[in-house]
Amino acid sequence: MLGTRLIVAALTALIAAGSAASGFAQSDDAAIARQLRDKALKDAWGWRFLETLTTTIGQRLAATEAEARAAAWAESELKKAGFENVHREVIAMPLWQRGREEASVIAPSPQRLIVTALGGSVATPPAGIDAEIVLFHLYSELLAATPGSLNGKIAVVTERMPRVMDGSSYGALNPIRRLGPSEAAKRGAVAYLHRSLGTDNHRLAHTGATNYEDDAPKIPAAALSNPDADQLERLAARGKVKLHLVLTPTTQENEQSWTVSGEIKGSATPDEIVLIGAHLDSWDLGTGAIDDGAGDAIVVGAARLIAGLKPHPKRTIRVVLFGAEEMNYAGPAYAKAHDADIPHIALAAESDFGARKIYSFLAPVGAAKTPFIRDLADTLSPLGIFLNAAPALNSGDDIAPLRAAGVPVIAMRQNGLDYFDIHHTADDTLDKIDPQELNQNIAAWAAMTYLAAQSQLDFRKLATDAPASAQR
Ligand SMILES: [Zn+2]
Repeated sequence: MLGTRLIVAALTALIAAGSAASGFAQSDDAAIARQLRDKALKDAWGWRFLETLTTTIGQRLAATEAEARAAAWAESELKKAGFENVHREVIAMPLWQRGREEASVIAPSPQRLIVTALGGSVATPPAGIDAEIVLFHLYSELLAATPGSLNGKIAVVTERMPRVMDGSSYGALNPIRRLGPSEAAKRGAVAYLHRSLGTDNHRLAHTGATNYEDDAPKIPAAALSNPDADQLERLAARGKVKLHLVLTPTTQENEQSWTVSGEIKGSATPDEIVLIGAHLDSWDLGTGAIDDGAGDAIVVGAARLIAGLKPHPKRTIRVVLFGAEEMNYAGPAYAKAHDADIPHIALAAESDFGARKIYSFLAPVGAAKTPFIRDLADTLSPLGIFLNAAPALNSGDDIAPLRAAGVPVIAMRQNGLDYFDIHHTADDTLDKIDPQELNQNIAAWAAMTYLAAQSQLDFRKLATDAPASAQR
């Protein structure tokens, strides 16, 4: 018995000595990161935050009264959670609101279609538009159509969005929604419909913002559910198709949205900031659980655990809950208002991809071989997360303007296989979130945020010193 204990003690000493000698001993910082990780996995705070946000407020369309209530609520939650310098910042913007949205085939065979207006869309006349369609299976076919070829017609694009783990097909196909209406209008179309940027086969349409160009007429624009886009393809293959479309959204100028932020003051270099963000606004169709209530719970939940540490980590941690991401106002407004802060932001990251498990992370440019990343990779490995060989070139839409202004970023990659089944639909509700997967995210973000705030690495310098090929 005594002999066994001695052998165990000797082995333990040997392992400790061996790991120290080989240079693989983990730092004190890594030990604290591991404690934060393990605490997060057992903590119900993040789930309660998300449950309360989606239940007591629900949808949070930018510039609505509901979004303002969410901002006031988030402000009080951040104060209660122990953050400092908690405040709201105004974003001037118009308020766009959905009205009636009805579409139907009137010839050859009358039948209803499921559509939803794109954010920012203008209205049809109150009685609607009756017009023949011109259907394009690919967006590039619409772009190849000549001016005048769509005069008086409703342009319909039915290109399909592939289901991929990292969700990158969304960015690739995004011009169909963002730019399609103006491209169709330049060719004479009177309205625009596109297959939802979604991977499900439900009769739910996926909304999302569109941007009208100045040199084209503004035409009403909506997304079709996937099965309805299929139906139009089959009908169009048989001959002429005529639709009836009614959209009655409204726009009120001079309204406002809110960004909420709070800080954990750094104990050694408080002027250096590690910024972690998510967006508080959502679309109006669901309750914004995956997009982006989850991200709010992840970044606030992670930082809250660090706020309880004494002393605080060296750098200041700033949590930012952006308003009006979906309408594309938040990021540019924040970068403009915080122009003077930008040189002080050492690193930034955003969580805006639901709450499925993180499976990899991307190091800041030039930082892959630093002690910070080694500690982080070791801390995240038991969570099933590996260090991706690619450098982080972006980390979310709201911090993209900061990134463009030279702020280094770090990125977490989540399993996004089913994200676009739900994204921007009425199905974006709390039941789609797994509390344990949410906690895996909070655990990873707590470890990452702590280690980044504790590190004294100059990520800008590492990026500048990295080969040019790593910076694109
Ligand atoms: Zn989002």
